[in-house]
Amino acid sequence: MSIYADDVVNFTSVLKIAYNFLTGREYLQKKKSKERKTLISVASGFPDLVFAADSIPVFPIRMEKFKLNLYLLALNTATGLFGWDLTTKLLGIARQIDFLKIVDNVLNDVISTINKRYNKFYELAIQKNVSPKFCFGVKSLYGMHLSKSNNCDCSLDFTLRCKKYNDYLKSLKELIPNQIWLEIPSINTQDEGNALEIMITNLKKVIQELESISGNIVTDNSLKKQFRIGNQVKRYYKTIIYDIGNSDFYPCNSATFAEILALLTISFQDYNSNAQRYLENLSHLVKEMKMRIQKGVGMDVSNRPRILLTPIFNGWEPKAQEIIHDLGGRVIYSDWDSLGLLEEISVSKNSDPIEAYAHFLLNSSKKGLFCLDNYESLINSYKNYVKKTKVDGLIINQLEDCHIDPSCYELMKNKIRIENKIPSVSIKFKKIGENLEKTKVTLKSFMELYG
Ligand code: SF4
Repeated sequence: MSIYADDVVNFTSVLKIAYNFLTGREYLQKKKSKERKTLISVASGFPDLVFAADSIPVFPIRMEKFKLNLYLLALNTATGLFGWDLTTKLLGIARQIDFLKIVDNVLNDVISTINKRYNKFYELAIQKNVSPKFCFGVKSLYGMHLSKSNNCDCSLDFTLRCKKYNDYLKSLKELIPNQIWLEIPSINTQDEGNALEIMITNLKKVIQELESISGNIVTDNSLKKQFRIGNQVKRYYKTIIYDIGNSDFYPCNSATFAEILALLTISFQDYNSNAQRYLENLSHLVKEMKMRIQKGVGMDVSNRPRILLTPIFNGWEPKAQEIIHDLGGRVIYSDWDSLGLLEEISVSKNSDPIEAYAHFLLNSSKKGLFCLDNYESLINSYKNYVKKTKVDGLIINQLEDCHIDPSCYELMKNKIRIENKIPSVSIKFKKIGENLEKTKVTLKSFMELYG
């Protein structure tokens, strides 16, 4: 039996997020054909401007047709009759009397369904002769667009300080002719005031382009309304990472907890195309987690070292969390927090929402992988993050063919081990499922450091 079984079967909010992810295709079809909404491709957690233009942000994997796990299929039928809460309760009882063995792997199935699709995108990109120099993340993003981006009206692209990523963005033009680019100026080379001015000008231009493609006006009110929803989403997300993630008792076993964080990492990219619904699911998730802890449902994790595994948003080996769990640790995934994307955007009465968003983007561009043009800042950013989260160890997910020089990863690993005084290791990642044996060996000797 899967280690996830009992944990997830009654976790209504987790099931809802998974369900909304896997049934995105039907949802998006309805939005486009019946409600005439504009679909805009986004990635990496930047959906707010699209929502403010009354359009639908789409991380393109969600336009794929997924085979629903039987349990989720049963939920789909039964929720219409009984509602989500009662349905999950009923199916939970059915499972206990061994009636529904199919629920055993529900969340594990969802994550592996998504990951298998990522590998397919990667292979599709290779078949279409995409540059072999691209990393897994860029190749699978390109494959994702090859597969279904013709359903999108436009793509909203935020330039990162990675040449490979920006080259990929340029190549997207062949697949989605309508492109809106948001350049985030580098603050290392310019003074902050100047960078802010450029950022505001760039944002205004992007908003105009969004208005013209969607036919909707973006107002201060629509921006602030969206930022308010986004801020609440971020607050709940942080509660899960910090309050629950740091506690000694989890509402589920530590592998399931990592699976939930992985699902949030994937689904946050477009807030599941419906920010209000995503907010409600996250609020429900936090409530459910707290309730389970109160009732003593879950797992004592006080003796398990907390290990940050990062960055994962461009692809990682999802078995890593299970390996660490089996070796007595617990994995935390918190990419969006380390990249500054969980910072709130000011919505105070007198604030200018465009300026507030410009500040938010500039601040995040100084963090994690977003400050790639300067390896020293990159390393410092990770050092600070490790200090802030007080984790007991760090696993660096080192993507092959990454634009970052491998010596930078090596330096980062050593600096964090010496200066933050925690064990650190890097695992090489090329493609999901590849190098698994080597990863196991590396993680085994890493976990031995905790005695
Ligand atoms: S920084 Fe590395 S992992 Fe990230 S997009 Fe660029 S090449 Fe890929």
